[in-house]
Amino acid sequence: MAKKISVIIPVYNEGTLVETCYQRVVKVLWDTKYAYEILFVDDGSTDGNILDTLVDPHVKVIHLARNFGQQIAITAGLDAASGDAVIIMDADLQDPPELIPRMLELWEQGAHIVYGQRLSRQGETWRKKVTANLYYRLLSRLTDVRVPVDAGDFRLMDRQVVDVLCQMREHSRYLRGLSAWAGFKQVPLAYERQGRAAGETKYTGRKMMHLALDGVFSLSYLPLRLITYSGLLTLILSLFMKPHVLMFCIGLQGTVAGAVLGAYLKQVVENTRNRPLYTVVETAEKVGSSAGRLQRKDAS
Ligand code: UDP
Ligand code: MG
Repeated sequence: MAKKISVIIPVYNEGTLVETCYQRVVKVLWDTKYAYEILFVDDGSTDGNILDTLVDPHVKVIHLARNFGQQIAITAGLDAASGDAVIIMDADLQDPPELIPRMLELWEQGAHIVYGQRLSRQGETWRKKVTANLYYRLLSRLTDVRVPVDAGDFRLMDRQVVDVLCQMREHSRYLRGLSAWAGFKQVPLAYERQGRAAGETKYTGRKMMHLALDGVFSLSYLPLRLITYSGLLTLILSLFMKPHVLMFCIGLQGTVAGAVLGAYLKQVVENTRNRPLYTVVETAEKVGSSAGRLQRKDAS
């Protein structure tokens, strides 16, 4: 039997771009020797039905009950995927589907994870480029997990890695960090990140900030350790400090400690609640009637 590839594409209000994306991805997969499925995860889009008229038995659309965010949408796709390898990509074609064959080659050569590494980013603001650049480097300093720099969610993961990720049910999910945490053999695939094929970014500043914080607080205990060290330091220095300086130091330390502890406490609370990560309205199989159905003989 041919090996199967699952392609997961999270979608939030991408309009007709989803069709363009589908066409490009299918064209690439069609020419491979693999069986495949394409899982579009509709992350609570409000701009109409996604791929409503499409008939292709390789495609499923998982409609989430509201907007849960890209990381959770990808998780819903990972839970549903049945492939021997899973590829994650955005719907806006910033990550070229034409790189998929090379990813598959590297996978066949033994890589468990093939991650897209951005050489450049076209069509993005200098602010986004600078903050992303600094963030990736800061994160890699803060954690012992080897999180590749300049790599987003565009990646291939072997079934073994996907199974580990599916076991992790934590709510604050920074998937590229969690997949790095899992270990395994990770291989970069350098590429030029394109501008969006259409539309605007769906990542508001708030969503971006949450993702960045999730990355730090789910992969690093260093902020927590720094509180301990600064407490010890204040204790020692207090022997030599004047009372008003001591009060100032304790106040400052309390403020910083509060913020850091709050971030970890948020994770404790959301994980002990034990709610499901997402809710699904329906999973639409695009099988339809056989008339006009796209046919491809899977090598089996
Ligand atoms: N996306 C999503 N849910 C969200 C925000 C984004 O599923 O709440 C999808 C979006 O449709 C796209 C991918 O996640 O396919 C990446 O989003 P976007 O391109 O807006 O992010 P950027 O590339 O600007 O960081
Ligand atoms: Mg994008």
